[in-house]
Amino acid sequence: MSESVSIFDKHLSQKQKLATDLISGAVLKGRLANAYLLTGRRAEDKWQIAKQMAAYLNCERTKSKDEGLSLSKDQSCLAKSISGQAVSMCRDCRWISEDAHPECLHKLAPAGTASSRKISVASARAMTDLLSRTTSAFRVVIVEDASQDVFHRPSANALLKTLEEPPANTLFFLFADSAEAVLPTVVSRSQVVPVPQVPFSDADALEVALFSFHKQIKDSKQKAARGCLSAIELAQVIMKTADDLVEEDENARVAYARVIDHAIGEEYLRLKESAISSSADAQYLHDLLKLGQDSKQKIDHYVSPKATLEGFSMAWVQLAHAAGVS
Ligand SMILES: [Zn+2]
Repeated sequence: MSESVSIFDKHLSQKQKLATDLISGAVLKGRLANAYLLTGRRAEDKWQIAKQMAAYLNCERTKSKDEGLSLSKDQSCLAKSISGQAVSMCRDCRWISEDAHPECLHKLAPAGTASSRKISVASARAMTDLLSRTTSAFRVVIVEDASQDVFHRPSANALLKTLEEPPANTLFFLFADSAEAVLPTVVSRSQVVPVPQVPFSDADALEVALFSFHKQIKDSKQKAARGCLSAIELAQVIMKTADDLVEEDENARVAYARVIDHAIGEEYLRLKESAISSSADAQYLHDLLKLGQDSKQKIDHYVSPKATLEGFSMAWVQLAHAAGVS
C-alpha cells in the first residue's frame, strides 16, 4: 500500500483536489513550504484548508512524539468530524474549529474603515515578536487578505524576514483573489496554490436549485389549473427560488444564471405561437432575452446574485405589463 496522509475532510479533498493533494504531498515528502499563498475567491475553502492543516499539525490523534512534523495516517478530529464521523474532539481541534485557539491559530487582520483597510506595520511587527516566542504548538498564521492594497509594502517589509525564515513549527497561509494582487516580494516567498471555483458539473447546489425551481413551477401550474404560467407567476417562482439559494456559494451563482435561462425558456415556449403573429409579443420576448443576458452578466461580475435575480423578476413583470402579455 502506498503511503498517504489524510489531512483534509473528504469533501474538501474532492472539491479542492489540487490544493489538498499539493499540501498533503508536501507533508508526505517532508517538504512543507514556509508559506502558502492560496488564491481564488473561495474564502470558505481557503479557511478550511488552513484550519484543517492546523488541526492536523496539533491534534492529539495525529501528533507524533518525534521532533518536527508529525506524519500520521490518522485524521484530525476536526477533519473526521467534518467528514461526518462521530468523534469526540480533542481540545486543540475544538479550539481550532471554534476559531479560538490561543496558541496555534494566529490571524493577521487589517484594521481601519472598510474603504481603507490595511494591515498595520505595528501588527506585522507584533506578529514577528509573537512568533519569536517558543511554544509547544505548531503555529499557523493566516493573513486573511494578502493583496497589496491591504498587506501593503511597509507591513509586508516588517514580516518578509519571518516569511522567508519562520521560527520552528510555524506555517503561513496567505489568502488573495489572485497572485497578481499580491506584492511580488511576498509571492516570491510563498508557494502559490490555486483554490479555484468548483466546476459546476460537480455542483450539488445547482441540482437542488433547479429541482426546486421545476417543482415550484409544477406546483403553481397545478394551483393555477391552467396550461401555463403567466409572466407574473413565473416571476414569483423566481423570487422564491432566489430565497432558496445560498448567495455566497459559487455554485449558487451558476444556479442563479441557470434559473434565469430556464425561466426565459418557459416563457418562450408559452408565447412561441403568438409571437409569430404579434409584433408586440415578439418585441417582449426580445426585451426579455436581453434582460436575461444583462442579469447573467451581472451575476458573472459578482453583483449580488440574489438581488440581481430579484431585479430580473421585477423588471420582467414590468416588461410583461407594458407589453400587455401578463
Ligand atoms: Zn484532535
